[in-house]
Amino acid sequence: MTMSDYTTPTPEMQEGTSGKSNKKQQSTTWAAQQARRGGRSVVALSREGRERPLKPSPSGPGLYRDRFGHDVPALRDSKYEWRQKKQKTLAVATLYRATDDHQHADRVVSCATWLQYLADQAGDKRTLQAFNPCHLRLCPLCANRKARQMTARLVRILTAVKAEHPEATLLFLTLTVKNVPGNELRDTLAKLTKGWDRLAKRRPFLRAVLGWFRAVEITYNPTTDEYHAHIHAIAAVDGRAYFRVAVLLDRKGNEVKGEDDKAIRSLYANGLYIPHGRDDRDEGGNLKTPDWYKGPFWVDMWRDCMRLDYDPSVRISKVTGPKGEQRDTDAASYNAALEAAKYATKDSDYLNGKMPEAVRAGVLATYTAALHRKRLVALGGWLADAAQGLDLEDDGDLVHGDEPSDEDLTAATAEMLESYGWHFGVGEHVLKDRTRNPDYTGQGGKWKRQ
Ligand SMILES: [Zn+2]
Repeated sequence: MTMSDYTTPTPEMQEGTSGKSNKKQQSTTWAAQQARRGGRSVVALSREGRERPLKPSPSGPGLYRDRFGHDVPALRDSKYEWRQKKQKTLAVATLYRATDDHQHADRVVSCATWLQYLADQAGDKRTLQAFNPCHLRLCPLCANRKARQMTARLVRILTAVKAEHPEATLLFLTLTVKNVPGNELRDTLAKLTKGWDRLAKRRPFLRAVLGWFRAVEITYNPTTDEYHAHIHAIAAVDGRAYFRVAVLLDRKGNEVKGEDDKAIRSLYANGLYIPHGRDDRDEGGNLKTPDWYKGPFWVDMWRDCMRLDYDPSVRISKVTGPKGEQRDTDAASYNAALEAAKYATKDSDYLNGKMPEAVRAGVLATYTAALHRKRLVALGGWLADAAQGLDLEDDGDLVHGDEPSDEDLTAATAEMLESYGWHFGVGEHVLKDRTRNPDYTGQGGKWKRQ
C-alpha cells in the first residue's frame, strides 16, 4: 500500500484540539471549528471527501497548482518539521496494517491532517493554534511533541526547585534490569515502577533524595531481539552534604584526609550520602568507603527493591552541561530534563529501514501492547511540590511544545487565521483556508467592529 492509497479522513474523524488543556474544547469537531471561524468551507476538500489533485506549480517552489489553475502554498513553519513527522505517522500506519491492527492504523493516519495557524497579514509569521493529534503512544508525531512539552515543563519545575532550595544539586540516575523478550516487556515495566515505588519509600533514599522525577524508557536490540527497559531519574539532593563526601571519596579512595572526620562521619551516619556500591571498589577489590560505613549502596538497594538475584547495573552522576562541564548550571538542568523526559520509546526502533518490515511491525506491536494504559512518569518530594497542579503527562495539550516566545502571535495580535490540510497525493500540508481572525484586536482592529 502506498501513501496515496489513503483517502483524506472525513471531517468527523478529525477531532480538533485547542491550545488550552480543556477537554471540552478538544471534543469540538473540526466542522464546528470551521463554523465558529465564520462558516467558510474548506477549499481543497471536494464533496466526495477526496482530495483534489495537485501538481508542482511552475510559479515556484513551495507552491502547488490545482486543476483550476490556482496556486496553493505548502505549509512553512520554521519551528517544526511537520512534513517529516507526518510522513512517519504514515509509515507507522503501514506497520499497524501489516499486523491487521486497522484501528490503530486509521487513528495514526488521521493524525495532524489539519493544522490551524494564527498568521500576520503578509503571511510571513505564523504561530500554531490548534491541530488534530491522534494521541497514540507510538505515534512519532504525538510522541515527539509530548516529549518536547514534558521537557519544557520539567525545566520549569527544576528552575522552581532551585529557586526555592538553593542547596539543591541534581543527580542523574539510571536503574536497569536484564534485557527481556517481547512477551515479558509489559510485566517488566510493571516491576520497574513497583521497584521504584519501594526504593522511594526507603529511609536512606528519603533522607538523601529530597525530590525526584522518574521516567521509564525502553530500547530494542535487533541483534538479540530483546528489550532493554530501564528507569531514568533526576534526583535532587542537598549538594552541600552529598558532594562534600562524594568528591573526597572519588579523589582519595577510602581515606578521608584533611577534613573533619567527625563531620564526614556524621554525614554518612545521617544517611545524607549513598555510595554507588559495586563500582566503588578499588583495584584490590576493597570498597572505597570507610570501614565503619554500614549504610546502604545504590546497587544493593535497587537489587532489593527489584527482588533480583543478580547485581543490576546502576549509573549515577551529577548532571552535566552541554560541553560536559560538571557544574550544576541551568544548562545542566536542561540537559538532564531533555535526557529524562525523552519519550519512552524511540521511533527509530520500529521505523529503522534496515530491519525487515515484519520485525519492525512486531516491535511496534510489542511496544503498543506493553505501554497500553501505563503511566510512564512520576514525581516526588520537592519536584512534586513545585509541579503542584501541573499534570506532566496527561494534560493533552500537544500544541504548545516549547516555551512561548515573544515572536509568537496571539489571537489578539494575528490578523489572519490559516488552516492547512495534509495532502496525501503530494505528501505535504497545503493551505486550505485563509480568513480574517475575528479575535484580532491589534491596530486596525476594524474587523472586530464591523
Ligand atoms: Zn499522532
